Amino acid sequence: MEHVRDYPVLPAVSPGEIRAKLPSAAPEKGESIEQIFADFQTQIVPGLTHWNHPNFHAWFSDSSSPPSVLAEFLIAALNVNVMLWKASPAATELEQVTLSWLRQWLGMDEEWFGIIYDTASVSVMQAISAAREWIAPECRMKGMQPGLTIYVSEHTHSSAEKAAILLGFGQENVRRIAVDDEFRMRTNLLEKTIQADITGGKRPCCIVASVGSTSTTAIEDVPAIADIAERYGAWLHVDAAYAGPAAIVPEMSWILRGVERAQSLVVNPHKWLYVSMDCSVLYTRMPEMFRRASSLSAEYLKTAEDERVVNFNDYGIQLGRRFRALKLWYVFRYYGHEGIIGLLRESLRLTQLLKALVGADGDFEIVAPAPLSLVCFRHRSSDEVNRQLLSDINATGKAFLSHTVLKGKYVLRFAIGNHQTNEGDIRASWQLIQECAAKLAVPKT
Ligand SMILES: *Cc1c(COP(=O)(O)O)cnc(C)c1O
Repeated sequence: MEHVRDYPVLPAVSPGEIRAKLPSAAPEKGESIEQIFADFQTQIVPGLTHWNHPNFHAWFSDSSSPPSVLAEFLIAALNVNVMLWKASPAATELEQVTLSWLRQWLGMDEEWFGIIYDTASVSVMQAISAAREWIAPECRMKGMQPGLTIYVSEHTHSSAEKAAILLGFGQENVRRIAVDDEFRMRTNLLEKTIQADITGGKRPCCIVASVGSTSTTAIEDVPAIADIAERYGAWLHVDAAYAGPAAIVPEMSWILRGVERAQSLVVNPHKWLYVSMDCSVLYTRMPEMFRRASSLSAEYLKTAEDERVVNFNDYGIQLGRRFRALKLWYVFRYYGHEGIIGLLRESLRLTQLLKALVGADGDFEIVAPAPLSLVCFRHRSSDEVNRQLLSDINATGKAFLSHTVLKGKYVLRFAIGNHQTNEGDIRASWQLIQECAAKLAVPKT
């Protein structure tokens, strides 16, 4: 962590290069840890993308903070498997305690039950399976029933649609609702689509609303979507995988407005809450649906305490579960509420600073609102130039940005969220972007 700035964010390697340098078979005799570590440094590190680098601004910028790293050491050394309460009582109870702490920080009441899954993709799959259990409980015995539909927006993370495919809803039964000028689901279209579906004999099952969509961090109108979900009896899942932690900051708590009426919500501490990969938290007001959708206990898993405890494996596909709560405990205690708010506020501040820098340069334009810690912008020229610009920036190894397409145009995404990123980093990266653009010296369109 101390020397992370000495490394290029993105490695200069081509496909197959690392693999070709490594032995094609495992060693016959054991090797020393010193030798293995030396090879790690010379053969593996040069091919790594440094996700924990302060100039990593692609996709979403996340952090593995020092307390999280230390917790990971303990987790690996203890090798606890949190499948049942009995499998390690303190691990199950620490999961309950830390998720209650986080729930309070997010301003949510005691009604919410929390569980840790590995990723938001699994969280949304479990949420949609719970929605199916609620709307069509016969599926558990009879298999998937026809006509169950899922509603997402054009900008909802692909994991929701993927979950619907995996659960057997069928891609044809996923409705992708168009977005407005600020990339939020158009709620009037959502309602019209649901009405047409009901007329056509479909059964609306689940609506996925985004608080902080992946392309632009758009914050959808959750209260209006909740009205519709309630009117038509559909489950409402709120995807705040990336943006959720921002609600811990008092002046940002509004982003979760309306969530109290949802059936489930996902927040990823491994994204913007200083916890290392992986750790995704799902909250639900209807844990019984998760249990009914996923529990199936074998004789060898029954314990005397079953009536009195939570056995987390009953709430999801996984039997074996990592001891991820320890990372939350370490991070929450090390920084405290104030420390976490301070880190999040700094990312929010740096984002507004970057937005101002970009906005002040006539060669560039901001192309989406930047309410959180992502700036979407483009050079005022062709898609081809913007694609080249991104490639040139990333090739320097000094910063790593990603892209998206908005309103048909190729757009650069600059995400801020690493705990080590400071104002100097942001100013240097912006200067780098300007220099790369100047070298391209293209006519404006
Ligand atoms: C990153 C992201 C996901 C997927 O997260 P994983 O934990 O990698 O599965 C889902 N939704 C949103 C809004 C995201 O930003």
